[in-house]
Amino acid sequence: MKKIMLLLYNTLTRKKEEFKPIYTGKVGMYVCGPTVYDHCHIGHARGYVSMDIFRKYLEYLGYEVRFIMNYTDVGHLVNDAETGEDKIEKKAKAEKIDPMEIVENYINSAKEDFQSLNIKPANFNPRPTQYIAQIIKFIEGLIEKEYAYESNGSVYFSVTKFPEYGKLSGRKTEELIDGARIENNPEKKNQLDFALWIKSDENHILKWQSPWSLGYPGWHIECSVMSADLLGQDTFDIHGGGNENVFPHNENEVAQSEAYLGKKMANYWTLWNMVNINGEKMSKSKGNHTSVKDILKEYDPMVIRLWILSSQYRSVMNYAPSVLVQAKNNLQKISDWVGNLKNVSDAPKAESLEKIDFSHIYQKRFESAMNDDINTPLALAVVYDLISETNKMISEDKLDKETAENILKFWERINKVFGLIIAENKIEIPANILTLAEERKQARISGNFAASDELRKKIESAGYVIEDLKDNNYLIKK
Ligand SMILES: [Zn+2]
Repeated sequence: MKKIMLLLYNTLTRKKEEFKPIYTGKVGMYVCGPTVYDHCHIGHARGYVSMDIFRKYLEYLGYEVRFIMNYTDVGHLVNDAETGEDKIEKKAKAEKIDPMEIVENYINSAKEDFQSLNIKPANFNPRPTQYIAQIIKFIEGLIEKEYAYESNGSVYFSVTKFPEYGKLSGRKTEELIDGARIENNPEKKNQLDFALWIKSDENHILKWQSPWSLGYPGWHIECSVMSADLLGQDTFDIHGGGNENVFPHNENEVAQSEAYLGKKMANYWTLWNMVNINGEKMSKSKGNHTSVKDILKEYDPMVIRLWILSSQYRSVMNYAPSVLVQAKNNLQKISDWVGNLKNVSDAPKAESLEKIDFSHIYQKRFESAMNDDINTPLALAVVYDLISETNKMISEDKLDKETAENILKFWERINKVFGLIIAENKIEIPANILTLAEERKQARISGNFAASDELRKKIESAGYVIEDLKDNNYLIKK
């Protein structure tokens, strides 16, 4: 385990704090997953790639990370409301198939996208429909402790019983009452109370028997129940999610968990920011909903991943088709660099004139960027600087095999964090091309430039490019 101070911005305290795990060497992390009624959009990609980087950097630091991400398969109603249609049921009716078939299809779709984006699968993906018994038990516990009450078959959390309500999102209860979109639900004692269990109307398909009614869970309760079940009935380390859900979803999670367990839910809340489309908020009604699958028709998934890493996870990103061009060029730059390093490392080269101390200079810079709240753009800038420096050395023929191999090893180590799959650029140069190149070198040494040009043409007609370096050395590229 490296002794390093990792600073994370904690939404709960609204400042950067040193990360201290609850158990030495281990991290428990819960991330709110998507509601599976449609394909993942670019905002999902941004969120889950960001959380993947968190996890991979923690692993780089030597932590064993237990990573849980749910798939919401019931209880998330249209407009995030507490009455009306379930998003999954709505889609199921439109497609005339069973709701669980919708769930299955879109979980598979999400997993496909996550795999393309090289997101490491979670240790477990819980779903609320598999947790109905535990959810009921949890709600019974809240009623017993008088944090919740039953009303006409539904159960509500009483926010006034939890004085810290609002601490995560920074909203004050009084302001919420003034500003809330009051639904005027007569079943609620206070209009800010939120549903833990909802009595089903006859149109609902997904419903279960409970002590209160034939109904289904509210949207927020699942994350409290499943995180407690899978990370222990205690405080866990990191809770991730999208900051557009900090209120009411995450705020309600905190209230439910802390009321039930009598303990702080999570020590660090790390929330990613959203992706706008052409400067506008993404929404289905605007028709600017951009799916990962659509982008993948045109771009390598690693271009998307690199584009995401080019912003710090807490800043708003703006997606427009043109933004990926820069990322595509940068990916090519990295790929060419890795290919060149592999070629150098295979070619017998003159002794390097200057050895770069990679472990100290570049590793330090990489780690200090990542330790500052996972600053991936700064960490990538370190890579781009290293690329410039080594490319210069290659062109001046100052890079020896050993140094090139060390740079490659360093890249492989930090790329475990970036998670970029770089196309294998190492080119096997056929023996006849190597012979032609050697003959050309001799021609150049003896000043026979006509023969040298002739040999260059032969090499090029075979599909290779020869680049001249200092002292008549050369580099062959495809
Ligand atoms: Zn959640």
